Amino acid sequence: MTTLNELSGCVVQYDPDALPVPSAQAIVREWATPVGVVERVPLHDALDRVLAEDIVSPIDVPAHDNSAMDGYAFKSAALDLERGTDASAHLNLTVAGKALAGHPFNEHITAAQCVRVMTGACIPPDCDTVIPQELVTREGDVIQFAFDAVKRGANRRRAGEDLARGHAALRAGRIVRASDLGLLASLGIGEVPVRRRLRVAFFSTGDELRSLGEPLDPGCVYDSNRHTLFAMLRRLNVDALDLGVVRDQPDALEAALRSAAASADVVLTSGGVSVGEADLTKKMLRTFGDVAFWSLAMRPGRPLAFGRVWSGDRPGDGSPALFFGLPGNPVAVMVAFYQIVRDALLLMSGATPQPVPLIRAASRVAIRKRAGRTEFQRGIAERDAHGQWHVAPTGSQSSGVLSSMSEANCFIMLGHEQSDLAVGEAVDILLFDGLI
Ligand code: AMP
Ligand code: MG
Repeated sequence: MTTLNELSGCVVQYDPDALPVPSAQAIVREWATPVGVVERVPLHDALDRVLAEDIVSPIDVPAHDNSAMDGYAFKSAALDLERGTDASAHLNLTVAGKALAGHPFNEHITAAQCVRVMTGACIPPDCDTVIPQELVTREGDVIQFAFDAVKRGANRRRAGEDLARGHAALRAGRIVRASDLGLLASLGIGEVPVRRRLRVAFFSTGDELRSLGEPLDPGCVYDSNRHTLFAMLRRLNVDALDLGVVRDQPDALEAALRSAAASADVVLTSGGVSVGEADLTKKMLRTFGDVAFWSLAMRPGRPLAFGRVWSGDRPGDGSPALFFGLPGNPVAVMVAFYQIVRDALLLMSGATPQPVPLIRAASRVAIRKRAGRTEFQRGIAERDAHGQWHVAPTGSQSSGVLSSMSEANCFIMLGHEQSDLAVGEAVDILLFDGLI
């Protein structure tokens, strides 16, 4: 047994031949250090990038108190005027002027006067309340409305109520979304500090792999993993560096790993880590890198090597890159990417990974599951008319059947301790929408 302590400062014990998924995730998080370089990019280029600093609001938004409605602004002191004993008493005010958005009215008025205001117009000096136009009757310059029609201070949007000057409007580590671009623009910010994009190099390994455009020789398969990886990396907005296919030869593999380490922050490979082959990867990593683990209590995705590779001859020589040796089977590549790699890439990009929401669903069928490993089955989930989610596994759960990923709309998450599931039993599902 090795302790996580030796590897990463945690204190969980594990069996390196079948590391539980949560322990693997903890090690990976420990090893993932964010890129330090900060770039200042024009507003639109900041979309999907990671904020490098807190954005402190340089102004109040809105900058002035303004009207939330089309109507009439007046002094609420007018509501204190004599209203007699009649419960339906009305107030009469004289219109003294007009304020439009971008065209303020700056004169003083009395409690017997009001100002015509449109939505977004500055609240004139002296005024504090807006009566919507639907609630008044107007004849010439005089409006009339019931005393009870409006409360003091109504329909006034306060300066700074959206964003207060001097407060952090967005926090470092945030991935910039559509609303954030608008928010930054509302602060007058046209240049945004973001982290440098993470560079991720990836290649496939296997003598049987053929690239697009090549004839499919007997016994060969087209390399699909590189394209799935490209797509998953693109969605995370990292710089993806496709290094092609590398044959199952130690020299070729070593050269590819070293040059990948020289040019990227992270190296992802697929294939060549299953039983037998794994020994080669392990041996190679020990010469010019570090291995943290190479096998997970996870299905699919059991063989998965994780560590660090260096571009030089020995660990510590040249430039380092985090290394993920993913399995070869196409479904296992995707599962391993989402469960083990994704958070590491987000952390290294400087982002604060948010937990992806899970939904509880009732299983439509009995599911066989052995306790002591985490399983991610491909499922089809639906919500019924009462809002209850139901899920059923797709037909084949083989880790080589990639069509099961295209057919499915969720992962069925079967935790480490979970055993067989009965029909109707509740299970967590992870919807692909938003993830993939
Ligand atoms: P390996 O882990 O290298 O033993 O590969 C396991 C299985 O995945 C084998 O059937 C391989 O042919 C297949 N495989 C490996 N790499 C790829 C790839 N890049 N694209 C499609 N299938 C692959
Ligand atoms: Mg192989």
